Amino acid sequence: MPTSKLANAQKTANMNNQPVGSTKSSCLCPKCGRQKHDTGKYPRSKSERKKALLRDANDPKSDLSANARKLIKANPDNVPPGYQVSHEEPLYTVPKADRCELDVADNMKTQPKKVHRARQKRCGDQYHAF
Ligand SMILES: [Zn+2]
Repeated sequence: MPTSKLANAQKTANMNNQPVGSTKSSCLCPKCGRQKHDTGKYPRSKSERKKALLRDANDPKSDLSANARKLIKANPDNVPPGYQVSHEEPLYTVPKADRCELDVADNMKTQPKKVHRARQKRCGDQYHAF
């Protein structure tokens, strides 16, 4: 499928402040198949996050309480209270269009919020200041 023409058309549309919500099949990311995310806020993948949560809940070496493991297994769509799923290689290190390549379970880690906060400079997916 020739996507470059469509990609350019989409870029132009976004530069004109077209609302990202208007979905057409031509507006899909060629890497992840979701809606294009080269502008605006990058939408994190819920399915990859779920994979990471379940993996860490079943990993005896991960930094999770017994209760957090239980909560994840009961409802893997939710991050247990007090925990965050961070990206080891921060999303901000790549352009928005490429972020889905880092937004995969292999690059994610479930950890207590206080640990994540201490590592925020490295783990800068919530650190947009620079
Ligand atoms: Zn993508």
